[in-house]
Amino acid sequence: MTKTLNPPHYQVIGLLHGLFGMLGQKGDLGEILSTFLSELGEYLDALGGVLLDASQQPLASYGPPLRETPSYLEELTREVYTHQRPMLLDENPSIVGVPLVNDHRLIGAMVFYRTKAFIPEEIPFLGVVALPLAIHLENLEYAQTNAARRAELEAVLASMVDGLVVVDREGRIQSFNQAFKDMTQIPADEIFLRSWADFFHPLPEQTSETFEESLKTGKRFTQKRNTVLTRPDGTNMNVAVSLNTVVTQASHITGGVIGVRDITREVQIDRLKDEFISTVSHELRTPLTIIRGFIEMLTDREMSREENLQLLDVMGHETHRLERLINDLLDLSKIQSNRMTLSYKEFKMERLLRQCIHPFEVRHHSHRFNLSVSPAAGRIIADPDRITQVIINLVGNAVKYSQGGTVSVKADREGGRWVISVEDQGMGIPAQHLGHIFDRFYRVNENQTEGSGLGLFITKTIVERHQGKISVKSRPGVGTIFTIDIPATPPQKRP
Ligand code: ADP
Repeated sequence: MTKTLNPPHYQVIGLLHGLFGMLGQKGDLGEILSTFLSELGEYLDALGGVLLDASQQPLASYGPPLRETPSYLEELTREVYTHQRPMLLDENPSIVGVPLVNDHRLIGAMVFYRTKAFIPEEIPFLGVVALPLAIHLENLEYAQTNAARRAELEAVLASMVDGLVVVDREGRIQSFNQAFKDMTQIPADEIFLRSWADFFHPLPEQTSETFEESLKTGKRFTQKRNTVLTRPDGTNMNVAVSLNTVVTQASHITGGVIGVRDITREVQIDRLKDEFISTVSHELRTPLTIIRGFIEMLTDREMSREENLQLLDVMGHETHRLERLINDLLDLSKIQSNRMTLSYKEFKMERLLRQCIHPFEVRHHSHRFNLSVSPAAGRIIADPDRITQVIINLVGNAVKYSQGGTVSVKADREGGRWVISVEDQGMGIPAQHLGHIFDRFYRVNENQTEGSGLGLFITKTIVERHQGKISVKSRPGVGTIFTIDIPATPPQKRP
């Protein structure tokens, strides 16, 4: 015998079917929820209804607004929000409210009001509607937070300076960030076709094999290696890679993540430091060896006064060389700890430059020295000791890196500034080195004459402390000109 459902049941099933179908629709959430409420409200013969979220804020409503009396708000808070129980308020209008609960979590509430009093028997029906509505709202919220989190995570990955590559348990590349793409200079679709290990050479075979094995077997793995990333154009980048398996909270390995950091600068600095240590040791040892040898000669041998003076002259030069190196090292440490200060004084430009050049004229007969200052009586307010150091460094280099010829020092007052240049006719500097010669420890040729690679770095720092600029032009085999442009009076002190 077939059981027949009476018409009201058909009506309810049809209503529920329509309501739940509505929840699955795409479109404006507010509109969908309002239609949902009004259809349900129509069935209940309600004047209006309202859907509230977990903090009692309306999500959707229909009909004339409900007058929120103190007893309504009190009941709603106590019964629905605190005890997660339905409420019935027999006032005018009569109000029914049901909590929207999923898995003991309160998602919100659904409230209807009408002229005819609601009866307790109607509440279970509202409970049937409330559960899928609660689940739906919770899923929506979850999806929204998830999408927001995902977007946030993607933004973080995209803005990272370090490259990041995600691989699956087979070691296949699944995704990577912009930084990695920029590092490789390979189109995105080609990156996916490659094996992650192809990018890094040398990488010990054991490292890549153990990483891949750990991905497959689900063992934890984390290791850091310094290696090289080679680009299609043949250029290299020193990188530190960190290989890690990704472990979920439930201790499952879902794949791997490879961090790639550009360490070109660190490698360069390390190399420069090594070179610096060997240069400084050499620069310290050479004058000391000469001085010691000469002292032995002076003590052991009878010599003429002229010979004595010659030895003492060399010893003087070597002592001076040592002093310069030590002063440069002290200056370097002052610059690095930001302790280099300037004491401003007013002085005559021509006089200071002449004093700087004089010792060179006395010692270096192989060179001619020209000085021109305009206006001849021009003055400047700057730190005279530091400006002297700058000029001596530049003239010293002009002499050191040329076999002879003229060294011209020129100073011109241009408005509120002095433009000072030091020009030589020496070996010049190849173009590819020009961008580096002001760097700490940088020397064009390690085996060239004495020097530590600090002079131009200190010179540039002093000029910049005076809020000036230094530039260089050079032609190999023809000569070099360094130009300084500094204010004639001290610029406003920075706040
Ligand atoms: P260094 O102690 O080696 O002289 P600097 O910092 O003074 O150090 O100079 C850096 C490098 O720049 C030098 O090693 C040299 O190769 C180059 N250089 C500086 N001045 C000149 C110049 N006038 N002519 C040619 N090369 C120069």
